This record gives sequence, structure tokens and C-alpha cells, in this order.
Amino acid sequence: MKRVLLLGGTGDALRIAKQLGPEHVYSLAGLGKVPDDLSCWVRVGGFGGSEGMARYIQDEGIDLVIDATHPYAAQISANAARASRTAHVPCWALRRAGWQPQAGDDWRMVDDWAGLTAALASFKRPLFTLGREPLAHLDEIPPQQFWTVRCLDAHEATPRARILATRGPFTLEGERALFSAESFDVVVSKNSGGSATEAKLEVARERGLPVVMLRRPELAAVDREFANVADLLEALQVSA
Ligand code: NAP
Repeated sequence: MKRVLLLGGTGDALRIAKQLGPEHVYSLAGLGKVPDDLSCWVRVGGFGGSEGMARYIQDEGIDLVIDATHPYAAQISANAARASRTAHVPCWALRRAGWQPQAGDDWRMVDDWAGLTAALASFKRPLFTLGREPLAHLDEIPPQQFWTVRCLDAHEATPRARILATRGPFTLEGERALFSAESFDVVVSKNSGGSATEAKLEVARERGLPVVMLRRPELAAVDREFANVADLLEALQVSA
């Protein structure tokens, strides 16, 4: 098999990493848990932009870059595409499909934090499920709102915000119980796709709640795209 540099930080990337032998490298930004039970090599931390990644590819004799980072991690995806071109190796990407609104859904699409706060203006109890960004805005909570922020980072509660430091996957039963206990009137989400965090959308649908959805960023073109882990692993075996 070629020597692979797998860029991860997602559940899907970890599933791929578990199939890789010791000659391959799994790379993480270092924000979350670092697995210690993989056969492949694990490296942690940034490369220093696309130039740094291109140097790493050349120095380590990497033959193939696989971008399995989160669909909203646009910088590392752009770096991977550029570094691969510079180093003359192919770049593959796992590009998981986004969720699609279903009958009865009320999705309000926004592009950025300003659009998001404007879309939330008339609500009182939003549930934020898009990572740590709301933590930087806890002192901007409008007087009529109480925020619940679910993200990986622990953070003290404030008089007008509660932080749920927890990691998915989230079950339908668990989400139903949370929504019922907290009386959310709107959900804020990225369109991550996949099943691990999808239950919140089903509960929003059941309760007739709007979802303020941050649009996906445009991602750089790559040599091959895969919609799921199984197809990517199969292609890896074929190209071994
Ligand atoms: P980002 O904005 O695209 O990347 C910022 C910088 O972090 C990159 O330029 C790179 O630094 C470093 N980096 C990111 N992923 C890396 C990796 N796998 N290996 C080595 N360096 C990496 O990324 P982000 O949105 O902050 O996300 C950071 C990580 O968390 C990603 O690996 C992503 O898969 C994961 N994640 C992100 C989200 C999300 O919503 N954004 C959700 C779940 C998981 P250098 O330029 O120095 O190389």
C-alpha cells in the first residue's frame, strides 16, 4: 500500500485510521482526544500551513493525502489540496453529504455569526450545537435570551448561559429528554451530516422548532472524493 497521510479529527477519520498499518500517519490538530490504540503512527498539531504540510509530505515519503477532516474545517482542507499539488501526490477527500430538510422542517440558513445572531433575535432559549464559538460571545447574550451551549469544552455557567461539555453521539431518547427539560425554542447547528448528531433535528421536527443552520463552506477541489468510509477504504485496497 502507498504511504498515507490521513488528516482527521472526526469519527469517520478514526474509522479509517483503525484500518491503517504502522507505515501510515494519522494527523490530528490536537483539540480533542488522541487515540492510543492505533497501529498507525499518530502525529498531533499543525504543520505550519500548506508549505509546512508539503515539506512534511516530501520529508516523510508520503504517497497519498486523505482529507477526512470535518466539513467545516475549511482551512486544513484547503491546505491539504494545495500541499498535495506542491508535493506532486494525489489528494483524496471524504466529503460526507449534508443533512437535507424534510417535510415540516423550518431551516433558516445563515453564513456567519452575524447572520446567526440576527436569525435568533426573536427567540428566548436557543440550543447551540456548533462547537465552541458561542463561548466567545457569552457577554453579548441579549437580555431576553438564555443560551444552552453544547460543545466539547468545559466552561463555567453564567447567569444567562449553561454549557453542556459533552461529546456525541446523541440518542433520540436523550435529545427528547433534554429538549423537554430545557424548553428550547430554536436549535442552532452546522450541517455536519452523518448520524451521530442527527437526532436533534428529528426532535426539532417533532416539536415544530426552527433550526438556524450555518451553511457549509466551499471546499477545495481534490483528485477523488468519497461519500462514505467504506468506499474510501475499498479504493485504498484497490490502489495498494
Ligand atoms: P481548520 O480551521 O480548518 O484548521 C485550522 C488549523 O488547524 C490548520 O490550518 C492546521 O494548522 C490545524 N489542523 C486542523 N486539522 C488538522 C489535522 N487533522 N492535523 C494537523 N493539523 C490540523 O480546522 P478547525 O475547524 O479548527 O478544526 C480543527 C480540527 O477539529 C480538524 O482536524 C477537524 O477535523 C476537527 N473538527 C472540526 C469541527 C468543526 O466544526 N470545525 C468539528 C469536529 C471536528 P496548520 O496550518 O499549522 O497546519
